[in-house]
Amino acid sequence: MRQNNVRLIAVNEGTDTGSGMEDDFLPFRDVINEYYAKDISKKIRSTFKSKGDSGKHVASSPPYGYIKDPNDKNHWIVDEEAAEIVRRMFRLTLEGKGPYQICKIFESEKIEIPAVHQKKQGLGLWQNREIKDPYRWTSSTIAGILAKPEYLGHTVNFKTRKHFKDKKSHYVDKSEWQIFKNTQEPIVDQETFDNVQRIRSRVKRYPDGWGEAHPLTGILYCADCGHTLYVHRVNNGKREAYFTCGRYNKAKDTDRCASPHRIKADDVMQILSKTIKGIIDYANFDREAFVAEIESVVGEQKEADHSGAMLEIETAEKRIDELETLIMKIYEDQALGKLNVERYTALYNKYQEEQNSLKQRVRDLRVTIADEKKEVRSASKFIKLVDRYADFTVLTPIMINEFVDKVIVHERDRKNSIQTTQKLEIYFNFIGEYKPSTMKEPELTEEEKAELARKEALKDKRHQQYMIRKAEGRDANYNKQVARRRAQQREDRRKTRRWEDIQAGIYHIAGTTVINAKNGTEDAEPILVSASRPRA
Ligand SMILES: [Zn+2]
Repeated sequence: MRQNNVRLIAVNEGTDTGSGMEDDFLPFRDVINEYYAKDISKKIRSTFKSKGDSGKHVASSPPYGYIKDPNDKNHWIVDEEAAEIVRRMFRLTLEGKGPYQICKIFESEKIEIPAVHQKKQGLGLWQNREIKDPYRWTSSTIAGILAKPEYLGHTVNFKTRKHFKDKKSHYVDKSEWQIFKNTQEPIVDQETFDNVQRIRSRVKRYPDGWGEAHPLTGILYCADCGHTLYVHRVNNGKREAYFTCGRYNKAKDTDRCASPHRIKADDVMQILSKTIKGIIDYANFDREAFVAEIESVVGEQKEADHSGAMLEIETAEKRIDELETLIMKIYEDQALGKLNVERYTALYNKYQEEQNSLKQRVRDLRVTIADEKKEVRSASKFIKLVDRYADFTVLTPIMINEFVDKVIVHERDRKNSIQTTQKLEIYFNFIGEYKPSTMKEPELTEEEKAELARKEALKDKRHQQYMIRKAEGRDANYNKQVARRRAQQREDRRKTRRWEDIQAGIYHIAGTTVINAKNGTEDAEPILVSASRPRA
């Protein structure tokens, strides 16, 4: 629905709404009004913007964790009590907790929600409103806090903007945010913040029977189709987690991944643990050599070239300005009677359309550049991280999140065979793919190479024989028996696990997992609600 300014401007234009001209002017008036409304909106915004451009806080009150400096209301200072809670949220996220689980932890510890905390200080939007439950944290509060760059000590202005048409706040694209660095004392360091953003952007966290996501969730990727690998833990009745490609499906759809890329989670954990241990040992043993090696690994990764994109942005912005001038010009022409309404409308729409698509293109390019810049590698950050874990003994979820960017999982070289190898590529945060030189296998002698080749050939031969027998159905009866026995064992295991789970307050229905919040597993988020209890 058109808003008031439409009519107002039309009156100012001197259009006689009672005259027979009305119908002819209708589309035209819309266009003109839109132009004016946009213009006015721009002017209002520019006064507001000049405050933001200067790096002052535009937001009326500081986010939870900060308070206004009593000596300078444009400056924020750390509210230590709240800041500690903010730091804990980031820490818990690194430990693999989702917002819902964090809520439950805070609730049980009776930590006051930000609205209550701010109300006590005479701040915030809730001063005159009653808050029913002072400890009732919500996932969205936590998620919102985890995403705020303000905690890095920066000022971020113009995260939302009112649109001239509907007067509603719209989130503006990240590329249009104005970020002023180091305007207040940081609460969270950059590495923690970046890690949390990565975890939050990738992982849909959900409990899967044990109430917590597997620490490798969101980190494993299929080498062939690029999809993330999903965890499966209960199907075989063992307490063993396996990951398979999320795009694999036995039905041979063309857009599906051709093979499961199945891998045992514990194997990946062991390899990660061994590799990280190897890196830390190397750093402890010969720090100088280690630093040099990391620097050379990072040095090889060239920074992406943005000159092409920058040029395109420049050209597009020039054209956007030109179009603005053209729109102004045709408006004047039509006002002076040089241009009729139809022609004007047609031209206006054409210019506007081109302008919009150029603006979109500029936004997209900016995002791409920003993303690429974020990926710039840093030897010093990685070394700092390694130093922090100099005394590491056990690999923890928090370490995985801090060290590992992603692991690419290849398919096994021989399928349906125990004699198989499966390749993993480990990409670390800050430095990319890396294996310490101290862990690389020593050069083999000719004899050892020949021996290895002979063993591999033998494995191949056995595997081929097995595949032939399978194809000919020679061992069909025997295989059937084995399969039946295994299925029985699997079913027995499942029954046992189900019983254990019911005792623990977790139970399964038709292959899905349901958390029973009543029986002491409150820190797990119920994801599925079932109408009836299963028969055990
Ligand atoms: Zn795949």
